[in-house]
Amino acid sequence: MIQRGQLVRHDFAIRDLTVSAVRELSPGFRRVTLTGADLAGFTSLGAGDHSKVFFPDPANGDYAVPALTEDGLRMPDAGTVIMRDYTPRAFRELSAELDIDFYLHGDDGPASAWAARASEGDRLVLAGPRGSHLPPTGAARVVLLGDETALPAIARWIEILPEPIEVFVFVELGNQSDAAYLDPDHVHRARVVWLGKGDGGLERAIRSLDTAVIGDDTYFWGAGDSESLLPVRHYLRRELGLPVTQVKLTGYWKPGVEALDHHAPIDPTDPD
Ligand SMILES: Cc1cc2nc3c(=O)[nH]c(=O)nc-3n(C[C@H](O)[C@H](O)[C@H](O)COP(=O)(O)OP(=O)(O)OC[C@H]3O[C@@H](n4cnc5c(N)ncnc54)[C@H](O)[C@@H]3O)c2cc1C
Repeated sequence: MIQRGQLVRHDFAIRDLTVSAVRELSPGFRRVTLTGADLAGFTSLGAGDHSKVFFPDPANGDYAVPALTEDGLRMPDAGTVIMRDYTPRAFRELSAELDIDFYLHGDDGPASAWAARASEGDRLVLAGPRGSHLPPTGAARVVLLGDETALPAIARWIEILPEPIEVFVFVELGNQSDAAYLDPDHVHRARVVWLGKGDGGLERAIRSLDTAVIGDDTYFWGAGDSESLLPVRHYLRRELGLPVTQVKLTGYWKPGVEALDHHAPIDPTDPD
């Protein structure tokens, strides 16, 4: 029987950081490494963790960041706060370095546009994670699915899950060259299937999973374009009737929507 992983809460802080390195991981991915004294106390224990990242206004370069008060984040009186969610890909406490892996989807979003141009010395402010969900207990196998935006978390999942747990990965890519994002070690540890985009491939792949793979000890975690996840969720939760403790799918973005709220249900007519 699968049970939700424990939630570990962390002190919430605003961290004012500096880009110390930028690395191209694949045609569509840039790893931005951040450093600074504000990283003291940074903690991220869960593969699906996220930080709120604040970006400068691409129109004028102005940087509006909130302040931390006892009641939470207080938005500044002036300026527009541009805030997006990103996965802390890796944190090295000894060298005070935090990696964030940005998928570059184009210049129509301030986060992607910033990441495409980021260079050493640039400033980036972030807050959180507020807490981390540890992996669920009782899973014999874990199926990870989504698109490029899920890959930093999927890489973390592969690293966190202990060896006896079987790991399956299904990821839709706009450009198959971005398969290079995953290290050979990740690909060796998991059964990874790369899919094309926009033709329902993710749903088909999950529907084609053998019933031996989908048991009451199988956990599904997925993230990415909420429109692609919708039919997958319907299949797993409604057609197969898997309980919410076995399926965690989160919309990380939605076509045509700026700064999608990932707490919004993938299917508003059928929230978890
Ligand atoms: C919890 C969480 C963790 C995340 N972790 C990561 C991560 O580690 N790395 C990462 O790259 N992304 C990650 N994302 C996704 C990222 O936050 C969104 O893609 C975000 O919308 C990007 O902001 P933007 O300013 O570039 O675009 P926005 O201003 O939000 O959107 C502008 C336009 O771009 C479109 N758009 C947004 N994202 C994409 C995309 N991926 N592909 C195509 N079009 C898109 C929107 O639909 C909209 O039309 C995460 C999201 C969540 C909720």
